[in-house]
Order: sequence, then C-alpha cells, then structure tokens
Amino acid sequence: MVEKLIDAIPIYKRGFGLKAEVIGELKSDYDSLLIDFLEANDYRILTPQVEILLAREFGFCYGVDRAVDYAYETRKRFPDRRLFLTAEIIHNPRVNRRLAELGIRFLTGQYGGENPLETLEPADVVLLPAFGVSKSLLARLQATGCILVDTTCGSVANVWRRVERYAREGYTSIIHGKYDHEETIATSSRAESEEGAKYLVVKDMAEAETVCAYIEGRGNRGSFLATFAKSSSKGFDPDLHLAKVGVANQTTMLSSESLAIARRIEESMIRRYGQDEASKRFLSFDTICSATQERQDAVIELAQSGLDLMIVVGGFNSSNTGHLCEIGAEHCPTFHIDEVSRIEGAERIRHKRPFADTLSVTEHWLPEGFRRIGFTAGASTPNQVIGEVIATVLKLKGVDVDSLVPAGFAPSQL
Ligand code: SF4
Repeated sequence: MVEKLIDAIPIYKRGFGLKAEVIGELKSDYDSLLIDFLEANDYRILTPQVEILLAREFGFCYGVDRAVDYAYETRKRFPDRRLFLTAEIIHNPRVNRRLAELGIRFLTGQYGGENPLETLEPADVVLLPAFGVSKSLLARLQATGCILVDTTCGSVANVWRRVERYAREGYTSIIHGKYDHEETIATSSRAESEEGAKYLVVKDMAEAETVCAYIEGRGNRGSFLATFAKSSSKGFDPDLHLAKVGVANQTTMLSSESLAIARRIEESMIRRYGQDEASKRFLSFDTICSATQERQDAVIELAQSGLDLMIVVGGFNSSNTGHLCEIGAEHCPTFHIDEVSRIEGAERIRHKRPFADTLSVTEHWLPEGFRRIGFTAGASTPNQVIGEVIATVLKLKGVDVDSLVPAGFAPSQL
C-alpha cells in the first residue's frame, strides 16, 4: 500500500535559530579539551610511555551534529510542551541518556519506557531521528496532529530521493544495508512509494551472490524467498522483480563492499540480458555519505601506519562504528567499546568483536610493550566519550593526564 502523507501539517526541518542559546550546554555535554588538544597537535600525543594517534576524521558527523543541536533547540523553543523522540535520535548511549535526562521521552526503546503513539496529543512535540522514519510511521504521527520536528540527515534524504526515482521508473530497489536498521526501514518504505514498486535488502556480498545467481538463472525460488523473507517487500517475486533493478545503499555501510556489490549485480544483469539491454535494466548510485567515507578512509590510513592496537569508540548498534572496527581488525588487535566503563584496567576489557552480536571479554588486552595506540570513533560518538577513553588509556600507561594539556590551552587556538 502506498502511504499518503498529510501535506497540511507542517514539519519543522530547519532549526529554530536558537543555536546561540544552546551552544554552551552542547559544549559542556559533549566536548573534550583533550580531543581539542589532540587535534591541535596533529592528532598525536607522544610521551615516553606511549604514543596516542587519533584518526584524522572521527566522531560526530554533520548529520549527527545537526540532529543533536536541533533536539536541544526544540527543548528551548517548546519549554512547556511534552517532547518525544520516536526512538534513539542517533546510535549513542551517552547522547540518548542525556536527552532523557533533559526530559525528552521516547516512544519506543530502552530510554524511558514505552509511550504508545495513541497517547500523543496535538500539543505534543515529536522529534524524528537522524535516520528518518518510515512513511507509515510518519503518516501515523501526522494523524495525531502533534508538532513534528524532523532531524533526518540530508544524506539519508538523498537515498530516499534515489529509491523514489527507481520506483517511479519501474526499477526494484536493491538496498545494501541492514533490513532492521532504522535508516533502511525508512528507505525501504520510500522504495515502495509507487503502486507495485518493490525493494530487496542485501546485507553483504554473500546475500548479493544469492541475488546474482537468481538473475543468472541459477537460483532456487524456495530458498531465495526464505533468505529474503524479512528483507524484501511483501509479495516480492524474484521471477518478476529482478528484471529491472536499481542499487542504493544505507549511508553507513562499508564503502568497498557496497561498490563491489553494485558491480557484481551489474555483471549478472549483463550476463543475463547482454550489455545493451542491461544498460536499460540496471541503475546504481553510491549513497554512502561523505562522513562515513571520510571516517573509513581515515581509519585505513591510521591502521596502515603500524599500530600495536586500536580502540574504536561508538554505540554497539552503530553501523558505521562497526565497520570502522572491521577495518581496524584487518591490521591490528582492535577493540570496539561504547563507553569508558568497558575498560576494567589493563587486565580486562569488555568489547564487541567485528561482526559479533554479543560482547566479549579480553584479558591482558593492553600489554606493557604496546606503545603505539590508535583511536577512532563512529559518527555518533561525542568527543567527550572519546576523550574519556583516551585519558583512561594514558593513565593505564602511567601518563599524568592532568598536566598533558598546557594551562591556558583553549580550543579557540585551533
Ligand atoms: S553518518 Fe552520514 S547519513 Fe548518518 S547522520 Fe552522519 S552524515 Fe548523515
């Protein structure tokens, strides 16, 4: 069913011009003097005990910056209203907890319990997260008559425009992403914005190969439908809906894999239909956002510089953070943690391994001899959390952190 949105109800999308009034609070909640100092020192701290290296692109991206600013501005603009978020605004526990502390309630999820949509009143204000929401959820929210403040990142909206175009022109959208990730749920709903339009989500090259085999006539219908039962449109028929396809991706996927998947599907279309015909039946557009790309490029550069180990900081449900960890682990021991409390001394760390769903514990993770340590952080990680992690590692290595940043240093010196 194609969702109809209600045009008459305005959605705030451009901020309230209150940045100056919230900047102090934002800085105190999320900034870090240690990170400012590292940036001012060419992303490096060298002490007799240890060398700390920070990736040249890390942490808050433009989309997250904007979403968090907008949440604080919304609170300032509507001080007497009930404020809600549909779910996590971004995938970082510190930020979501802070918003809950500021009185913003969550319609779903782990921060502050369940507040069913049915309890919303027209005077309420609902913030839409940086990943966006599905068309059906947006329509339900509009039906409540409440005020909507949309923090959806422009790069996500760019993917929506792409799949909507595919739908208009009769292409099935093949989306490289995680079918249950908020962004991909929202994008999938846009891929169905025309009557009869379909989508299919592939999570990795192995699933893309299943699609390619079907396109090339080597697939098994039953196992295909079982594989994509949760990650395709209702009524998706591989015999009908793989004849004309457009590839897009969740903005935070591993860029190299997204490009390889697009190439592989194009190859299959050419094998099946020949070069000329395939050019009419295949479209592709790289929708990895520039912030994700820059963080992946920077972590490759850092990892290739010869590290003893790397720490990647970010929410465990953050897709882009997970990919930074996968890249790091190809080069050196790499630990993905969401908060400094995961470090239990030099003897023990609780962390997420690449591709794992659960946490692991590694003993003696920071040996004496490990002196060159790299750090990076996903696009939703505040500098303050990264700074706390780096400070803890410095202390474990015996560095006097309090005297590291010269008295009088201020970020304005950057
Ligand atoms: S990671 Fe990319 S798409 Fe997501 S909020 Fe940041 S800039 Fe936007």
